[in-house]
Amino acid sequence: MGHVAILGVFVADTAFRAGRMPRMGETILGDSFALGPGGKGSNQAVAAGRAGAEVHFVGRIGRDTFGDMAMAVWRDAGVTPAVARVEEATGAAFIFLDAASGDNAIIVSPGAAGGISVADVEARADVIGGAAVFVTQLEQPMAPAMRALEIAREGGAATILNPAPAADLSDEMLALCDYVTPNETEAEALTGIAVTDLDGAWAAGNALLARGVAKAAILTLGAQGVLYHSADRSEHVAAFDAGPVVETTGAGDAFNGGFACALAEGRDPVEAARFACALAAISVTRPGAAASMPTRAEVDALLA
Ligand code: ATP
Repeated sequence: MGHVAILGVFVADTAFRAGRMPRMGETILGDSFALGPGGKGSNQAVAAGRAGAEVHFVGRIGRDTFGDMAMAVWRDAGVTPAVARVEEATGAAFIFLDAASGDNAIIVSPGAAGGISVADVEARADVIGGAAVFVTQLEQPMAPAMRALEIAREGGAATILNPAPAADLSDEMLALCDYVTPNETEAEALTGIAVTDLDGAWAAGNALLARGVAKAAILTLGAQGVLYHSADRSEHVAAFDAGPVVETTGAGDAFNGGFACALAEGRDPVEAARFACALAAISVTRPGAAASMPTRAEVDALLA
């Protein structure tokens, strides 16, 4: 079993729950505050690490308290950091939670991770090119993500792009991806096709293959599971019921980490998607993103 390399962002999530947003210039009392690890790439690394993969995380964090938090989270999940520690502050997200509606509004400042460069990625070419599976997302700048996909491809790694947050991408970038894993919104941003049901997912999957995705588009459909769509195989993998849903934040990250782990173990990609759905289903029964990622034993028990 080879290793999984993940390029991405770590930020500290700071979540404030209050009855309403303060007006500009105003101070209000909130109901609660929570501080925890976030960033899609880091959450995916934690998911894959807890699922048993050998994971190397490539990124950029500060020499500060939030950077130390990242190192501790990775250590606990068995993730090996391949990160630059720099003078800039580690990024953070301000998450406002409306106590009445449950809606949220978020400001993310990527901080140190916003400066991830092509040079940073090239400095870790051994980790990226030597991986069995390489994963990235769109929270860091596009140029280093593209360069990392090239290095991974040249090294023979299977490449996975989780195209989040939603953005349109060049055909050139999509052609460097063996697998893309958009949710409904991201699939629409990439294809212009509204994904509201399995037919829409099938059409968007086809469009992604036509734009150059090498092996398969895997559309994540929330409680509907995923559609795995390749040129010769289109399969709906249903979501698992692992108990009452508590919080779906990070479900996409759980899926991507699980898929990378199972693929690195040499599983058939549809089986890997099934493993990833089981992992994600457990994660939504718990609060938090990184904190909700299950252990391997828990995933195996749900699949048994
Ligand atoms: P988020 O942005 O909240 O992290 P996402 O929109 O990227 O999530 P989703 O498509 O919502 O990703 O979820 C990813 C996967 O997680 C789904 O394909 C499914 O396997 C699993 N999942 C999500 N919601 C549920 C649910 N309610 N019950 C079971 N599994 C779920």
